[in-house]
Amino acid sequence: MKFVRFEYGSITSYGLVQEETVWVLAGSPFDSYQITDTHYALPEVTLLSPCLPTKGVCIGLNYRDHAQEMGVPIPSSPIVFIKPSGCTIGPLSPILYPPLSKRIDYEAELAIVIGKKSVAVSEKEAPQFILGYTCANDVTARDFQGKSGPWAVAKGFDTFMPLGPVITDEIDPANVHITSRLNGEVRQFSNTKNLIFTSHFLVSYLSHIMTLYPGDVILTGTPAGIGPMHIGDTIEVEIEGIGILTNKIASRLQ
Ligand code: MG
Repeated sequence: MKFVRFEYGSITSYGLVQEETVWVLAGSPFDSYQITDTHYALPEVTLLSPCLPTKGVCIGLNYRDHAQEMGVPIPSSPIVFIKPSGCTIGPLSPILYPPLSKRIDYEAELAIVIGKKSVAVSEKEAPQFILGYTCANDVTARDFQGKSGPWAVAKGFDTFMPLGPVITDEIDPANVHITSRLNGEVRQFSNTKNLIFTSHFLVSYLSHIMTLYPGDVILTGTPAGIGPMHIGDTIEVEIEGIGILTNKIASRLQ
């Protein structure tokens, strides 16, 4: 199943994508829904962030090659930080370059989308609590990150968590290619089989720390090849079986 959230005219709905058609849902994939008879061609609708997370729970340094490029040891337990809900934007919405920062970077990441309230879930049970997977960009003000933080600032600016275009349960989260392209040039290319901590482990581990709510996302980390973006650039995150998440960089006035 491939879910989207979209706008058509003044109506915002969830939809189910089949080929190039969006079927309008009554209700939500995070609760209960019915497929209605109303449908649109995919290019007719404006795609929004496919979910509205209360938080993005993010994992740092979860690909061996990225830990090496950052010059830090491979972690023995997950490095966890949180992006506030105001970071969330959808496909084609602008990432706003904050005047406080002199360097903002892209980080292509596989995002797990939580489907059901999750508290102390076992690794074996984890798949039942996952609605699916989407593409994410863990946009980072690198000059605010430093070696030891505060990551909440570096990662927490408004618009710093693009998500989309769809949520799908049709991929193997442990074996899909992940790519980023800046202005059409490949900058990151890896496979989620290189993740240190797997998706199912992360849902279990995090749900023993904090309640995960329907629509929350877990950003599973980025592979090597991170780099800066500038105003006017176009950044794409592509994950095999999910699609392409495209955003432009625009200036933020304040
Ligand atoms: Mg990251």
